[in-house]
Amino acid sequence: MKLDVNVLRYLSKDDFRVLTAVEMGMRNHEIVPCELVERIACLKHGGTYKVLKNLLKYKLLHHDSSKYDGFRLTYLGYDFLAIKTLVNRGIFTGVGRQIGVGKESDIFEVAQEDGTILAMKLHRLGRTSFRAVKSKRDYLRHRSSFSWLYLSRLAALKEFAFMKALEEHDFPTPKAIDCNRHCVIMSLVEGYPLVQVKQLQNPETVFEKIIGIVVRLAEHGLIHCDFNEFNIMIDDDEKLTMIDFPQMVSVSHQNAQMYFDRDIECIFKFFRKRFNMTFQEDRDESDETEVEVDENSRPSFYDITKDANALDRELEASGFTKKEQNDLDKVCGLEKSKDSDEDEDEDDDEESADEEQNRESNEEENLNEMKSLQLKEKEHNSSDGVEVDNNEK
Ligand code: ADP
Ligand code: MG
Repeated sequence: MKLDVNVLRYLSKDDFRVLTAVEMGMRNHEIVPCELVERIACLKHGGTYKVLKNLLKYKLLHHDSSKYDGFRLTYLGYDFLAIKTLVNRGIFTGVGRQIGVGKESDIFEVAQEDGTILAMKLHRLGRTSFRAVKSKRDYLRHRSSFSWLYLSRLAALKEFAFMKALEEHDFPTPKAIDCNRHCVIMSLVEGYPLVQVKQLQNPETVFEKIIGIVVRLAEHGLIHCDFNEFNIMIDDDEKLTMIDFPQMVSVSHQNAQMYFDRDIECIFKFFRKRFNMTFQEDRDESDETEVEVDENSRPSFYDITKDANALDRELEASGFTKKEQNDLDKVCGLEKSKDSDEDEDEDDDEESADEEQNRESNEEENLNEMKSLQLKEKEHNSSDGVEVDNNEK
C-alpha cells in the first residue's frame, strides 16, 4: 500500500472530522453505519455524505453494504489520523521516503522543522496471514478490522513503552520520541540491519556484545523474543542498536526459558554461518575453522534470571496493562503469561456481551468526545485531534 502524504494537503477540516467519526464508531462497530457517522461528525450544514465520498476516493475508508450501508477505516485512513495528530503536536513536519518494510510494519523517514530526520514506524498487524491468525480466528470473529487497528495500536504502545524503559536503563535502542495510534516516532538509527553485513572487523567482539545485550535484558526481567540479525542494527564503527520490541515478554512468562534460548540460538547460528565462528559446543578433534570464540557454554537462563530486576513492573506502570498484553499475545502466537486470567474463551465471550450492552453508552461517549473536540477547535487549540488547517503541512 502506498502512503501518499500529499493527499493530506487536500483534506479539509470536515474530512478529518468525518474520518475521526468513523474511527470513533469503530470502537463498537466493525462497519460504522452511515447515520452514526453523521451523528458523531455533526457537521454544521450536513454534508457528511459528500465528505464520505471524498474519503472513499482517497482510499481512507472502505465502504461496505453487505449488511447495511456503512464504512470502516483503512490502514491508510488510520495512518493519516496518526500523522495528522503528530504533525499537530509538532513532532515532525513532513514524511519522506520509506526505509523499511517489516513483516508487520512500514517504516518511513520523517523530518522535523530544523531538518532532523526521525524514523516513523506504522504497525500493520494482520497484514500478513502470519503466525497464529488461523488458530485465533475465534478471537477475531466479531470484529476483525477493528481488531487489527486495535492490536496495531497496542503493538505501537508496547513498543514505545519498552523503548523508553530500555533507553532509561542504557540499552542500545533508538530514542523513543512519541507515539499515537499505531505509529511510533523514534530516532533514526545510522547503519544497517546485521543481516546485510557480510564482513565484520571484530566478529568476536560484536558477538559478545550481542550476547551481552540478551543477558542484560534477562537480568532486567525481559526477553526480546525476536532477537536476530534482522532486528540488530550496526553502523560503520560496529556500534549496535536493537530494534523491534512489540513481542518482548517478561522472564516470568511460562515459556520464558524457551524464548530466551531461541534468541541465543539465533545469534549463535548466525555467527556460525555468516562469520564461520565456532563455539565450544561445535568443537571436535578434526575441527580447523578460522575463527574461534572462547565460549564455554551458552548463558544459563536460570543463573541470569534468578535475581532479575523486574523492569517489566516499571513497564506496567507506564500504562501498558495486563489486558492489553494478553490481547496482543493472543495474536502474536505467544502463550499466555503465567499470572494472567485462566479462562481465555470465557473472557472473550464476556467481552462481546459487554460490548453489546455498552453500545449505547459508548455512542453517547463518542458524541461527547466529538463535542469536546468541537469546543477545542473553537478555542483554536491546535494541539491534537481532528483540527486540520487546509493550508498547513
Ligand atoms: P518489523 O517489526 O516489521 O520487523 P522493524 O522494527 O524490525 O519492523 O523494522 C523493519 C526495518 O526497518 C528494519 O530492519 C530496519 O531496516 C528499518 N528500521 C526500523 N527502525 C529503524 C530506525 N529507528 N532507524 C532506521 N531504520 C529502522
Ligand atoms: Mg523486525
